[in-house]
Order: sequence, then structure tokens, then C-alpha cells
Amino acid sequence: MTISFDLTKNSQISVEHYNKMAREVMRPISRKYDEEEHALPVEWVDHWWNEGRKGAPVDIAEATDGFVTICIQAEEICWGDCGLYLRMPTPALGGSAVGAAGTPEQQQRFLGPFREDGHPIWGAMAITESSAGSDASAIETTADFDAETEEWILNGTKIFCTAGAQASTIDGGLTVVWATVDKSAGRGGIKSFVVPANTPGMELIGCEKKMGIRASDTATLRFENCRIPKDHLLGNPDVQKKSAKKTGDKGFKGAMATFDASRPIVAAMAVGVGRASLDFLKEEFERQGVPIRYDAPPRELTAFERDVIEMEADLQAARLLTWKAAWMMNTGKPNNLEASMAKAKAGLAVTKICQKAVELLGPVGYSRKILVEKWFRDAKINDIFEGTQQINQLIVARRILDYPSAMLR
Ligand SMILES: Cc1cc2nc3c(=O)[nH]c(=O)nc-3n(C[C@H](O)[C@H](O)[C@H](O)COP(=O)(O)OP(=O)(O)OC[C@H]3O[C@@H](n4cnc5c(N)ncnc54)[C@H](O)[C@@H]3O)c2cc1C
Repeated sequence: MTISFDLTKNSQISVEHYNKMAREVMRPISRKYDEEEHALPVEWVDHWWNEGRKGAPVDIAEATDGFVTICIQAEEICWGDCGLYLRMPTPALGGSAVGAAGTPEQQQRFLGPFREDGHPIWGAMAITESSAGSDASAIETTADFDAETEEWILNGTKIFCTAGAQASTIDGGLTVVWATVDKSAGRGGIKSFVVPANTPGMELIGCEKKMGIRASDTATLRFENCRIPKDHLLGNPDVQKKSAKKTGDKGFKGAMATFDASRPIVAAMAVGVGRASLDFLKEEFERQGVPIRYDAPPRELTAFERDVIEMEADLQAARLLTWKAAWMMNTGKPNNLEASMAKAKAGLAVTKICQKAVELLGPVGYSRKILVEKWFRDAKINDIFEGTQQINQLIVARRILDYPSAMLR
């Protein structure tokens, strides 16, 4: 049996391309868009649209050999700036949702335009509501079918929707909205719907002011009698009331499959932010002539050396779990357990690493003169969205013990 961790040529090219872009284009504007929250980072958007994406050999709809590359891309770009990564004009989470729940025809129809030249366009995914976060099955947004016009009518309010401002207001954008078609069916009634930008009835209410990833827009969207065509419901429209109880909510599981694709990407984002802090720390101490003796016996290590070695080990472990989850996704293997493992490990690792970097650098680590304090603020979100630390640990426990969600919540 051979196990290889060598990157394919495609992935190596990606690493070099995105690292150069992160270093030369993103880092110089990182502070500006952290301070000018919600401003559109025009130079970044233009660069990505005109130059950056040319080096991107993959997108979600065509990711036959590419899911690991997508994660490597996320790590490199988030090493540059995690907030700006989320502001890239791409299908993003909306693309993951279409990829996971849509039919091949829907993937082509909704994601195809993202591959054509034209104006930058964004994608978003709107699940969270004021009374439904970790428990996505509690959503109250409704989708009623109008048989006469063959349209779905959406009503409800979604909060904390990443890239929601762009995706909902710029022509060509799309927002994937989770709604229930039948409340009495419980989870079996929950479906996801593609809402094109500027659809009447979808209103951008505003954007959140945040602790970190301030370059990313996080929107509140209201849907009031928002009509979309019948074939904008992703996947199977059948409501499986019986199977919802007996076979474990097939329809809901279809929508939840989105997370199997998105969690490895968020884990890779976390690894990128953690690596940014660790690289800075090591370069700074090298500059000051402080060595890190990797081969010293444990009893001779300084506290600083032990901290750095632990940070490196955590980062490597998170990256390997991420690559495994991504590789499984790539090869069509069920990766629900591995996606949550990677996300939980990377979310925890990045928060610890970034906090430690602030600490070890002393007062300068806390200063806005350098980006380490920003990475510390950016880090935590990776431990919250796409399932919090606690929720991903819960999923890991359920999968290992083979318990249904009703038995372990
Ligand atoms: C910047 C940002 C961007 C976001 N982007 C998006 C997006 O694009 N689309 C979208 O739909 N949502 C998005 N979210 C929402 C995010 O996914 C939710 O905040 C997250 O899922 C947690 O839900 P909640 O905030 O309702 O917290 P709650 O579910 O209320 O949880 C609060 C706390 O309780 C813990 N907890 C909850 N249930 C359990 C349990 N059973 N066992 C143990 N602990 C538990 C949680 O881990 C958490 O620590 C975003 C959030 C933020 C902050």
C-alpha cells in the first residue's frame, strides 16, 4: 500500500499562484478593509476577476480532481486575508449548496454563468434565523407552491448571511435559501432554493458590524412574498413525511450534505489564518536571533520553543485532517465524520495559535502596527460558522458511536 502526501502538479501551481497573490495583493490592503468595514474591496475584486481566478483550475461544479486543490487555495488565500477571501466574487457557499443538493442540470444552470467572462458575481447561503442557528431544522422561513404560476413563494428573515449583500443585489448573484415547504413534515419538509439577485420580494436589510473578518459582508435578508420558478428548488421536491421519521429525514440530509463540502473549506481557511500567525511569529524571532531547537531534548526546550512546536503540531494535524476530508469528498466517499473532525480540530487550533502568537510577541502583538491582532480576531469565526466547535464535536461523537441525533443532542 502506498500513501502519498505529494501535491499534484495542479495543486503545486495553485499554491504558488495564490501565495504570490496573497503576499502581493491581499496583505497590502488587509488593514485598510479591516478598518473600512463593509466597503467593497475594489482592487481585490478587480484583481481576482481579471487575474486571480485565471490561476484557479477548479470550481465546485467541476471539481473532479479539485476538492483538495480548493482547500489548498483556501489556505493560501486566507494566509493572505480571511475576510477578503470571503469577499471574492465566487459562488462560495452558494456554490457548495448547489453542488451538494442540486441535480447535474441545476449545477450547470446555476453555476455555469460563474465560468463565463463578464461582471464579478457572488454566491451566498442563507440558513440561519434568529431562532435557528446550530439547530438548522428549527428554521421558520416558508416556501409555498403556487400551482397556478408554478412558482415558490418565500417568506421569512435570514441573518448572518456571508456575502449576502453582494449575492442579493448584484446581477448574476445567487443566494441559496433554506425554507420549509411543509412545517408538519419536520426536517423532511426543509428544502433549499436558489434566489437570483434582485428578485422582487428579497430585501437586503443591513450588514453586521463584527469583531473579525470585517472585510466580509454579513447580511440580513428579508423575504416577503418572494417568487421564484418551480425548478429553483434544489434536488428532489418530494416531502418525505414517513421516511422523515423512519429513514432519518432524507430530504433534510440532502440539504445538510452541503456541510460535507463546506466544512473542509472552512477548516482550510482556519489553517491559513493560523499559518499566517505562526509564520510571522517565527520570522520575527528569527530576526531577533531567537532559535527554535526542534531537535533539543524535551527537558531542555524553552517555554517559547515548546509553545511554537505545539503550535506547529496542531497546525499540521489540522491540515492533514482537512486534506483527508477533502480527498474523501473528491473521491465520492462519505466524509461527514471527517469533515466535522477537520472543522473541529482546525477551529480550535487556529484560535489557540493566534492567541498564543499575540501573547508571545508581547505588546507589539496587541498593536495595530502589525496584523497579528487582526488574525486573532479573524480566527474565531472559523470555530463558529458552518457548525460551531461544540456541534462538530457532537457530530463526531454521533458518527463514532453510531447514534442518531435524537439519542445524542
Ligand atoms: C460572521 C458570521 C458569518 C456567518 N455566515 C453564515 C452564512 O453565510 N450562512 C448562514 O446560514 N449562517 C451564517 N452564520 C451563522 C452561523 O452559522 C451560526 O452563528 C452558528 O451556526 C451558530 O448558531 P447560533 O449563532 O444560533 O448559536 P446557537 O445555536 O444559539 O449556539 C450558541 C452556543 O451554544 C452552543 N450549542 C448549541 N447547541 C448545542 C448542543 N446541542 N450541544 C452543545 N453546545 C451547543 C453552540 O456551540 C454555541 O457555542 C454566520 C455567523 C457569523 C458570526
